[in-house]
Amino acid sequence: AYLDAVQRENSHINAYIKATPETALSAAKKVDEKLARGEELLPLEGIPMTLKDNISTKDIETTCCSNILKGYIPIYDATVWQILQKQNAVLLGKTNMDEFAMGSSCETSCFGGAKNPHNISHVAGGSSGGAAAAVAGNLAVYGLGSDTGGSIRQPASFCGIVGMKPTYGTVSRYGLIAYASSLDQIGPIASCVEDAALVYDAIAQYDPMDSTSQGKKAPVSGNLGQSLKGKKIGVPREYFDGVRKEVSFALQQALKVYESLGVQMVYFDLPVLKYALPVYYILACAEASSNLGRYDGIRYGYKTQHYNGIHEMICKTRSEGFGAEVKRRILLGNYVLSSGYYDAYYKKAQNLRGSIIQAFKNAFAQCDVILSPTVPMTAFKEGFSSQDQVETYLTDICTVPVNIAGLPAISIPCGFDGSGLPIGMQLIGDTFCEETILNAAYCFE
Ligand code: GLN
Repeated sequence: AYLDAVQRENSHINAYIKATPETALSAAKKVDEKLARGEELLPLEGIPMTLKDNISTKDIETTCCSNILKGYIPIYDATVWQILQKQNAVLLGKTNMDEFAMGSSCETSCFGGAKNPHNISHVAGGSSGGAAAAVAGNLAVYGLGSDTGGSIRQPASFCGIVGMKPTYGTVSRYGLIAYASSLDQIGPIASCVEDAALVYDAIAQYDPMDSTSQGKKAPVSGNLGQSLKGKKIGVPREYFDGVRKEVSFALQQALKVYESLGVQMVYFDLPVLKYALPVYYILACAEASSNLGRYDGIRYGYKTQHYNGIHEMICKTRSEGFGAEVKRRILLGNYVLSSGYYDAYYKKAQNLRGSIIQAFKNAFAQCDVILSPTVPMTAFKEGFSSQDQVETYLTDICTVPVNIAGLPAISIPCGFDGSGLPIGMQLIGDTFCEETILNAAYCFE
């Protein structure tokens, strides 16, 4: 039924850039055989799901929605996909995303953006827009996305579903095509908190193939629904500056719900948050400029047709293969890392990263969870991001601090604006406190 739905409806919302019916049916067959033998199934066995197109899949084209990787077929599976295949997950296809996960609207994809199932003249969000649109449009049960500065939480918020970015290091990045390695993290996108918790439990495992892998403490999905009485929710004032009225109102209502569950609110300032956006865009672009050096026309994907000598070949391949936003970030990254500007930008950003981490540590001495909007607004109208790039960067204000500090955070729906577009609420936890935020999200739901 899901495969039929994808075939019928994907052309309207462009959530999938590649359907994988054979892979799906062969996993489903294995599950059928197990059932026929009367064997018990694992939690995710036989569940139809998706992978963002920056997650490597052996023998299945993986493009990061970039012309430069068109035709690239990985020779190995990402660890998360290895884990899920052992559970006979039914892969419906690879989902649409901003090129190399750089963007907030999915519109930098070389396949065109994914549309918002709530209103197709609005975007699904980004960069994991396809994964969110697939779940919200009932074209998959869950999907894996990646989140470097909000790319799981922001599209989940725009599409009215659940998205979680785990603590840095809990989910292996092996086989995730790198954007900014110190910020990237894979996580679940699902229609409810319990599903997100089940997927998180499955994929959060120690992996020797990822040098930053830490694994997780214990499964969390069985512990949802614990009372919140006496818990403290922190509300940093800075997170509510410049937030659209309707979003602010929905968040105030959510705070009342928590109060009625016995939660105490703690209001405080986190002044260092004003540096989060510049810190994010300096560090992310710096790391991207290094990570994307490998696309040279020799090792992967696209290579230019006509050239004289190797320098022209590399230059033309990169000029033709990368889109405008990716080029902009490579240029910015090289600039902040160049010898004349390194101290003024990159080093300063690294120092401020330390201050942001410390500010969150202090905050979690006063509260169990921090609550904020996920995005200061609802889903952009199509074309908004291409009009004003800086304006788009500014909308990442609530999500990027979490990646800078390596913290876990979840976005859950908490209402609608006047035109029926969903509003998302973000719950942030201290490192490795996934259970705390999932439980708080579950109690709200
Ligand atoms: N919107 C942010 C950016 O453009 C976040 C992207 C991401 O998390 N991959 O970089």
